[in-house]
Amino acid sequence: MHGTLPNFDIENGLALLTETEAGQRPSREAAEEAVRTLIRWAGDDPGREGLVDTPARVARAYAEWFAGYDQDPADILQRTFEEVGGYDDVVALRGIPFESWCEHHMATIRGTVDIGYLPRDRVVGISKLSRVVDAFARRLQVQERMTAEIADTIQKALNPRGVGVIVKATHACMASRGVRKHGVSMVTSRMLGVFRDEPATRQEFLAALARAEA
Ligand code: ZN
Repeated sequence: MHGTLPNFDIENGLALLTETEAGQRPSREAAEEAVRTLIRWAGDDPGREGLVDTPARVARAYAEWFAGYDQDPADILQRTFEEVGGYDDVVALRGIPFESWCEHHMATIRGTVDIGYLPRDRVVGISKLSRVVDAFARRLQVQERMTAEIADTIQKALNPRGVGVIVKATHACMASRGVRKHGVSMVTSRMLGVFRDEPATRQEFLAALARAEA
């Protein structure tokens, strides 16, 4: 039942759209009409002056916020560097900012991602890792899945001895509705390979993050 889309790696679970669903992506006009419906549902008049252009702006914003659906994160990591000059320590990036949208409320999730990996024979440009974060963040997400997807993609593309990903984020759906708790952050992590199996390597990663913070 799953078709194939040229830009998606369906087998690896990276695709969230099947061909059928993608074929049914509604028109810009239909999206704008849906925004008008939500404005009416909120209790306002989509015909009033201040709101007339809002549906078009929201549709454009959605194209930017959800650009991740048109990106293949694995593809971003295609170009790796094999010359690592004998470097055999953990590479750690701390505090990559991201903005995502919770799939339960379509409210923002804002936070940072820390990434570490222990190269086996290749490394990747650091801007590529932050693009991988964006490609997964700019979708409807749950934080746990996004954390796992980032780690699994790096593991697969670089084949390092291990990967660690830690995501810290606040969820607007929790701060502004329901229990209305502000200032609560959620921390999720995924440790693979030596980051999972060797406490010393995991400790080295956490120590590198702490040094970066200082
Ligand atoms: Zn939510």
